Amino acid sequence: MPTIFSKIVAREIPAEIVYQDDRVTAFKDIHPIAPVHILIVPNHEIATVNDVTPDDEQTLGHMFVVAKQVAQQLGIADSGYRLLVNCNADAGQEVFHLHMHLLGGRSLGPMLARRD
Ligand code: 5GP
Repeated sequence: MPTIFSKIVAREIPAEIVYQDDRVTAFKDIHPIAPVHILIVPNHEIATVNDVTPDDEQTLGHMFVVAKQVAQQLGIADSGYRLLVNCNADAGQEVFHLHMHLLGGRSLGPMLARRD
């Protein structure tokens, strides 16, 4: 079964795509947690970071180049942004198609809330 993100990549279900090339697709998160919340995904399915192989290195590196471009495109390159990748249950990964969150447009606060 293709993931929901594969269906977005193939344009089988709607999403606000802000960038796409032959390796990666970037689109708006359906439930944004910041004024800018973009998901950048490899066009081919990689379930989690645990499933990454050396063959994926070019695509994964390319995701950073695209993140930089999209941040510029959306006007948050200078104000700043956060790139985040969740892996498996403790990180709260919901969609098992590796994706990088690009978050910005406001001050994002500390990376993690302390639980002291
Ligand atoms: P995760 O917790 O797996 O790192 O994040 C998954 C993200 O995908 C969530 O922020 C969620 O809002 C987003 N998402 C889930 N389903 C869809 C969808 O069908 N379309 C879009 N654009 N985003 C989705």
